Amino acid sequence: MAMVKADGYGHGMVECARVFADCGAAAFGVAELVEGIELRRAGFEQPIFILAGVLPEFFDALFEYGLTPVLVDATLIPALAREAVLRRKEIAVHVKMDAGMGRQGFLPAELGDIVAAIKSREGLRLQGIMAHFPMADNPDPAGSKRILADFLRAVAGLRPDIHQDLCLHIANSGGLFSVDGTSLDMVRPGISLYGYGAAGAGDVSATAEPQLIPAMQFVSRVIQVREVPAGTGLGYGHIFTTGRTTRLAVLPVGYEDGYLRVLSNRARVLLHGRSAPVVGRISMNLTLVDVTDINAVRVGDEAVLLGSQGRETITADEIGGWMETISYEVLCLFGHCNRIEYVD
Ligand SMILES: *Cc1c(COP(=O)(O)O)cnc(C)c1O
Repeated sequence: MAMVKADGYGHGMVECARVFADCGAAAFGVAELVEGIELRRAGFEQPIFILAGVLPEFFDALFEYGLTPVLVDATLIPALAREAVLRRKEIAVHVKMDAGMGRQGFLPAELGDIVAAIKSREGLRLQGIMAHFPMADNPDPAGSKRILADFLRAVAGLRPDIHQDLCLHIANSGGLFSVDGTSLDMVRPGISLYGYGAAGAGDVSATAEPQLIPAMQFVSRVIQVREVPAGTGLGYGHIFTTGRTTRLAVLPVGYEDGYLRVLSNRARVLLHGRSAPVVGRISMNLTLVDVTDINAVRVGDEAVLLGSQGRETITADEIGGWMETISYEVLCLFGHCNRIEYVD
């Protein structure tokens, strides 16, 4: 199951789903109903899982678009079954177990009752059981191993005729790369499909095989180059004052484009294959870069805010560090706020 929620982690859901389908993805995972509908309308015929839960007002669309709900709440079981029977259809459902995430789903002790409730209803076909790892971004896999064991024990406790046909899945990227035995019947990688390890810069996948190659670049172009004397306060609040005669490259990028204010005086960008610091406050639409040491910079030059240029690279993990967040958030933010162009 290729995870394409959040508009493909900011990369464009439909375009990414096409690539993943070409590579053999057997199913797609999204959080929300609207995302599933969009995928179906784009023509995908693979199973599409709605992972964050469903509401009664989603039922029409589930049937109309043939989407697979992941049940997280027992109260919906009778209503969903009734809807299926009315339509003379059977709907495949998966059940989410809370094997230690503490967020959503049924506790292991509740699983038997839930499964029995689904099995007793005409119209519902229990196809799979899933869980999710809370610490798969932690390179220490001990906690994940315990959760995997709890998950498998709860499933094994079901009647044999029930659990033998079930599709079991638990692995996100972190589980897939850093915990043995998590593959089960299906895996649900997300961040690794977009080229990042779940644990950030220190992730095993950053150094070990398979090497992940980040897909996203965030590129802008210099809109002005200017020189200011030493002692010049730059931008709102003058949070940076030049200590020397300084050449500035102005980029038409700001927090409106997801290049958040918190990156002021922290980030760096690439110009002519070299690294240059962001100086002063990032404003809504403009960012200043000190290019005093990169003589060749001219109006129109390409500036890389995320990605590679020459031998230099800025990763979403590095930007996440400046923003006190993780690569996931950086990718979603930059992707959601900007026009996306696809390059082979
Ligand atoms: C987002 C998500 C994944 C994918 O996680 P990554 O860390 O991006 O690989 C897998 N399963 C569920 C339920 C998710 O919500």
